[in-house]
Amino acid sequence: MSSQPNQQQQTLGSRQKFMTSANKGKILSNKCLKCGHIMVGTIIYCERCHGNELQSIELEGSGSVVTFTIQAVAPEGFNEVGKPYAWVVMRIDNTSSLKVSGILIGIKSPADLPLGSKVKVESFDPKFGLKLQKFS
Ligand SMILES: [Zn+2]
Repeated sequence: MSSQPNQQQQTLGSRQKFMTSANKGKILSNKCLKCGHIMVGTIIYCERCHGNELQSIELEGSGSVVTFTIQAVAPEGFNEVGKPYAWVVMRIDNTSSLKVSGILIGIKSPADLPLGSKVKVESFDPKFGLKLQKFS
């Protein structure tokens, strides 16, 4: 008999919480109590020092575009979204390096999304993950 929590269950639980936060426009993150590193809330061990004493914090889901890849509509006229979209990596405001990726619908060309554009989390889509939107 082990008293260790079931790791898979714990991962599922943190994913659920992450989704709930994203639906409120927030990013659930974990702060390592040992080294202060901040990482996304689905990670249960510190990426930097492997510490497992993490404090759950909710960050505003806003940040700036670091990089992105545009998915054009397939020639048949269909992709899973039905519109051109971009996979965006954003850096969360008020963190040194926390990055999350998500989908931003309606981006047709790089000119639609200059690097550094402000984006925010809109919701969590079960299929695509984080859905982002530009804000201005
Ligand atoms: Zn750490």
